[in-house]
Amino acid sequence: MEKENEFVVGRVVLRDIMDCDEFRCRGKEMIEYICNYLENLESRRVTPNIEPGYLRKILPEEAPENPEGWDQIMADVESKIMPGVTHWQHPRFHAYFPSGNSFPSILGDMLSDGIGCVGFSWAASPALTELESIVLDWLGKAIGLPDQFLAFKEGSRGGGVIQTSASECVLVSMLAARAQALKRLKQQHPFVEEGVLLSKLMAYCSKEAHSCVEKAAMICFVKLRILEPDEKSSLRGKTLMMAMEEDETVGLIPFFVSTTLGTTSCCSFDNLPEIGPVCQKFPCVWLHVDGAYAGNAFICPELKYLLSGIDYADSFNTNPNKWLLTNFDCSTMWVSLSEKINKAIVIISTS
Ligand SMILES: *Cc1c(COP(=O)(O)O)cnc(C)c1O
Repeated sequence: MEKENEFVVGRVVLRDIMDCDEFRCRGKEMIEYICNYLENLESRRVTPNIEPGYLRKILPEEAPENPEGWDQIMADVESKIMPGVTHWQHPRFHAYFPSGNSFPSILGDMLSDGIGCVGFSWAASPALTELESIVLDWLGKAIGLPDQFLAFKEGSRGGGVIQTSASECVLVSMLAARAQALKRLKQQHPFVEEGVLLSKLMAYCSKEAHSCVEKAAMICFVKLRILEPDEKSSLRGKTLMMAMEEDETVGLIPFFVSTTLGTTSCCSFDNLPEIGPVCQKFPCVWLHVDGAYAGNAFICPELKYLLSGIDYADSFNTNPNKWLLTNFDCSTMWVSLSEKINKAIVIISTS
């Protein structure tokens, strides 16, 4: 039974919050607000003109005891929040990298919020898992990924998944590579402590790689060797080969190579056709390819040649939220052997 000032959404009773009628009305106002914001963005300055800590001075110290009306909240957004916003969608914003945005993407987010599912397993909401696999195959095909990365190709053991960021894609790949390497080493040296084996693992990337590779190595407790690229900022096979051989002779174990197609600072391309065969000379090295922003461009037929050597990769990632008009966060990742990821980070419940 709903009492006065009470409104039931699913299992939750809300008091004095917002009922469907008000949501209809406020929702339309919000669309108006967003349209006005985007239509008049050019008249705002790109970066805020405020000092660090500005917001703390103008917001109350404690959360308010009593709720405020929506008009009051939106007035605060305009007068207090907007002055501290850097406008990534501004036509004169040229920092960092592009931030995807489009009306269909905003509508999709609204629908997803309305449905409010948590799709952590197929049974938790089948359409979510199934749609993800299908669309990732579409996108993988459009980019030109080889069949080993597609879920619905006969004989393929790979597939795609959405992560929150490219940094997470690199971390997840490194975790899977680490699990694969440790498994092999434990079979070879059953009486050696896992911590000792871990201390031998060496990952590689170029100086031009994104800082997320260093971060992933820190989280994974593994060593990382940062290599010098050539004069075109491209990591070459020979440089990698020499480093890996050198490390092997002092008892270290190469297990992971992170390459970049389209580096963040200068859009250089590591030489995959050279690096791939080098990785294969070592017993168990995982090759990751980070195409966080440039990867989106491989949809263009005239740019597909830049993917050359991708057949050697164990994993690949790109961010539709950088270039494909999709709102943050949508980072897509494909692996050629899904079970390796599952073994490293998924706890499969048997109950
Ligand atoms: C942007 C970028 C990243 C980091 O992306 P996040 O999604 O913010 O983690 C990693 N690698 C490259 C090449 C990038 O351009």
